[in-house]
Amino acid sequence: MTINNMYFIANWKMYGNISSIKSINKVVGLTKLQKYSKAKIVYCPPFTILDSFEKKIKKTKISLGAQNCHFVNGYGPCTGYVSAKMLKDIGTKYVIIGHSENRNEGETNFKINLKINSALTSKLNVIFCIGETLKEKKKKKTFKVLSNQIKQGLKNIKIIKNFIIAYEPVWSIGTGIIPSYKELNKNINKIKKIIKPIKNSKKIKIIYGGSVKPSNVKDLSKIPGIDGFLVGGSSINSKKFIDIIKKTIN
Ligand code: PEP
Repeated sequence: MTINNMYFIANWKMYGNISSIKSINKVVGLTKLQKYSKAKIVYCPPFTILDSFEKKIKKTKISLGAQNCHFVNGYGPCTGYVSAKMLKDIGTKYVIIGHSENRNEGETNFKINLKINSALTSKLNVIFCIGETLKEKKKKKTFKVLSNQIKQGLKNIKIIKNFIIAYEPVWSIGTGIIPSYKELNKNINKIKKIIKPIKNSKKIKIIYGGSVKPSNVKDLSKIPGIDGFLVGGSSINSKKFIDIIKKTIN
């Protein structure tokens, strides 16, 4: 992927309400400039404003994503959840699955696999999050953890266009700490090695997430094989998000 086709995925987590949506006006403006027209910008706001967000970005180059879905597809007795089909029906194009904040709440690789299957059945593009904790990193278990997450998460999954793996070291999320160039390069190569035997693995995009900011994105984008970024905290502030895009595509 060339630098101007990079993904910039905004994960708003449990932030934002209807009045926050207008804050993306400047991002919409940016996408109209030729230089940034190929940037793949995806907003993943909370469920409560997905529908309003969809109306806002309908005629723009920005895509809509959700932050999770249930593994049961369609409809069912699943109080408090939303299915991939329901997301698709309101115009959602992407869904984040396996975020460490959900793994931390007990989401297993097995359930993640079912969710990915469900999302693909409903023709949603998957943003599949993987990453090791600090404890696992210190015990030198990173390769094993990533390998298990990928192998179990992608079991019997047919890879199609726009399938994204987001490598997010858990110790980097929201901490301001990012991996060194050497470490990130090594881990991206590990991921490439793990996915190699999977059919159509060349179609998988690999993005990085964890404390991406305007001040560090230039260095992060130098890592060979990085197809973009999953941005949490810095995506809620449109100025910072725009800076991240501009510093990557310059
Ligand atoms: C995330 O939660 O996916 C994330 C990358 O968060 P942050 O950018 O805030 O570290």
